[in-house]
Amino acid sequence: MKKNKNIPVILVCVIFAVVFLAILLIFMQKDSTEEEALLSDIKVEQIPIEEIEKMSADEPTETPEKEEEPKPTEIPEPTEEPKPAETPKPTETPEPAKEPEQEKLPKVEVQEAAQPITVLIDAVESARISSKEIQIIFTDNYDAAVETYLLMRRNVLTGGGWENVGSLPSDKNATGDQNIFSDKLGESMPQQYEYRVDVKLPEGQTNTAQEGKVILASNVMICIDPGHFAGRNQVTGEQTYGYAEGDFTIEVAKELKRILKETYGIDSYMTRSGGSITLGGYTDGNLDSGHISLRGTYTAEKDADLFMSIHTNANEENANGYPTCMQPISINKPLVIANGLACSSDTMMRVANGIGVNLAATNYQLGISTVKDFATVEKNAVSEWTKAANDKTDAAGTVFRRTGSSGGEYYGVLKGAAKVNKPGIIVEHGFHTVPEMRKEAMEGNLKTLWAQADAYGIAYGFGFVSNIHRP
Ligand SMILES: [Zn+2]
Repeated sequence: MKKNKNIPVILVCVIFAVVFLAILLIFMQKDSTEEEALLSDIKVEQIPIEEIEKMSADEPTETPEKEEEPKPTEIPEPTEEPKPAETPKPTETPEPAKEPEQEKLPKVEVQEAAQPITVLIDAVESARISSKEIQIIFTDNYDAAVETYLLMRRNVLTGGGWENVGSLPSDKNATGDQNIFSDKLGESMPQQYEYRVDVKLPEGQTNTAQEGKVILASNVMICIDPGHFAGRNQVTGEQTYGYAEGDFTIEVAKELKRILKETYGIDSYMTRSGGSITLGGYTDGNLDSGHISLRGTYTAEKDADLFMSIHTNANEENANGYPTCMQPISINKPLVIANGLACSSDTMMRVANGIGVNLAATNYQLGISTVKDFATVEKNAVSEWTKAANDKTDAAGTVFRRTGSSGGEYYGVLKGAAKVNKPGIIVEHGFHTVPEMRKEAMEGNLKTLWAQADAYGIAYGFGFVSNIHRP
């Protein structure tokens, strides 16, 4: 019975041993399959990358993406295919790989449209096209938000109120181009206007509109001729301060052009904008003597109302008992030489007188002249220029005419202006033979002060200011 009792115990032990062995075997097998699995995983990843890289390198025309993506909107992708591994199409957006820049733009527009904006036309310019047309120019940046642009105008001279003188529908397409109003004037009399561009916005949107920025404009155009060219009439001797008439006239001209526009809304253009001058195929020296009248005929280029040549004066050799370029300040008076058309025009005589009066006052206040007044002249009462009058000391400046031996204009520039039927003046602002004038020109603010006097005189002549004396 003892033997019988031991049999089950042995059986149990055997079973345990078998089970233990079996478990051991299973674990060993599992470890090896896991290692294999890991290895195979790595291999699985490496193989396709290499293959794809090979494919893309060897066969650039291959389009694996195309097969994976049946969406027609993604057809452009094949042309890009620089990164074959970068094809995570799981993203929802239908056209992710398509030109990312274009994709961003509409998003920004949506945001802008969502945020209310204030529409204010503040970058406005005017251009005098003719005595009967002024253009008002502004960028179309607000086209998307604007329904209609309204041109508002106010006559400064008559003091009238604002009136709507034009409307321009927006094409809703902001391209950075210009929108242009053409204001056709009823008459060609000199006028000074204020303009602004207001806007009408579409109904039921959240943007707001502001009144446009006000600008000054006129239907007057001046042709400015900075006398000579760079380096011309260089003063030599003592106390020159490096002065050359041809260098300083361009400085005065640039200031005049700026002040005319900013302060009076008057447009102008110049026969030269730098040291050199070129007109009609001629340059510098040829335009200072032989073909100098081309400067005057340039007045017709933009149908200017006035030709104005900017100069500084000189005197006879050793005039008044002084060395030529060491003249006393008592000679330093402004002179205006007018052509025949200007001499018979009320407007042009007012221009000439206005310029002379204010130049004389400026030079006197600066202490570079002993005479503060200017002898104004009525139309058709202009005296002939003489050397004696030119060089006289302690005498008021005035308006002269200078005729040639044949009775026509002596000065080529004024002859040129007359040829195209335009009034013209030469303004001798002061005498560069006076050292004090040269010093003020080269070391002071003379270019701006003279330009202010010139601009005021022009504004006075055309009726934009009422007092001949600049305040
Ligand atoms: Zn000159």
